[in-house]
Amino acid sequence: MRVLSIGAHPDDADTSAGGLLMKLFRAGWEVRLLSVTDGSAGTYKKELAGAPLAAMRRAEAARSGAIFGGRYDVMDHPDGRLEPTLANREEIIRYIRLFSPDVIVTNRINDYHADHRYTAQLVQDASYLLTVPAVCPDTPCMEHMPVVLFWHDGFQKPYPFQPDVIVPIDDTMESVVQAASCHECQYFDWLCWPDHLERTEWPLEKQIAHLRQRFERMFAGYRREYDAQVRKKFGDRAESIGHIEVFEISEYGAQPSENLLAILER
Ligand SMILES: [Zn+2]
Repeated sequence: MRVLSIGAHPDDADTSAGGLLMKLFRAGWEVRLLSVTDGSAGTYKKELAGAPLAAMRRAEAARSGAIFGGRYDVMDHPDGRLEPTLANREEIIRYIRLFSPDVIVTNRINDYHADHRYTAQLVQDASYLLTVPAVCPDTPCMEHMPVVLFWHDGFQKPYPFQPDVIVPIDDTMESVVQAASCHECQYFDWLCWPDHLERTEWPLEKQIAHLRQRFERMFAGYRREYDAQVRKKFGDRAESIGHIEVFEISEYGAQPSENLLAILER
């Protein structure tokens, strides 16, 4: 079984679904991560923006991919300039077909960042065409449509996120912290700008501990927010679940079988 996590930037695909990805990796799945842009705009430092940052982020992504036992590919599209063009759609179709995943994870189409929106749009536009032989005939089409899952967001319009799949991650959430810690130029620098630049001077262990607290709070927050759904799905087991990731099922991909849902929510 194969899972492909697709994000717009080199720290999206791992940190947005890392608990699930680690779960599947431990269950013997092949994990692949993809960033559709090169991440070259994620800095406040003029001398770093562009090619030097893109190279740094590729290396950081590769380290994170290794945590999940897989490749973390980074496409060459410039950060902040992604467009949902036909050429980009066909690039995504070919990329997905060559890996042929059973499950794709990505963000929803509602999002504050144009790169996130267009990445979701490209995946959504590609999903039906993955199985159409006459589209991109140079790359063998998939026999089965993959299941497409969207990771959590808090956007309310046009409709709020639906927690269709609930993944208990008490035993895998540390891999999200480890993955995020690989993206040093982001979590320990760019994301401190402009209000918390003092954190960039903290020793690495203090930065990682702070990151761990942040992620644990977020995953415990999902657990509280979706308490009714967790209790309905897991019954008595709900008491022992403290942290979750949640995913919405795309209408345009395959619908997960009972068997697959049981694996995802194990
Ligand atoms: Zn992003």
